[in-house]
Amino acid sequence: MNIGRSRKGARVNVDNDKCELYGICEAEAPTLFELGPDGRLRYRRSPADEDMVLAAAAARSCPMQAIKLESGNNGRR
Ligand code: SF4
Repeated sequence: MNIGRSRKGARVNVDNDKCELYGICEAEAPTLFELGPDGRLRYRRSPADEDMVLAAAAARSCPMQAIKLESGNNGRR
């Protein structure tokens, strides 16, 4: 899995102070979120626009409401 920043645009942020590592986000959107064997949550911070539906599903299902989404403008004004 390639997790990281890909470009400017929509953004995903997880509040580490709220996240309790339940892993529901990974179940909802395994291409965007991954609980590693070290117990840390890794996630794609700048997903493609088409993946924001998955990110939104993960955000809705997070019991801690730790996932915040920001829509980007992709450089447009
Ligand atoms: S579902 Fe929410 S609390 Fe659970 S690992 Fe994902 S971000 Fe953290």
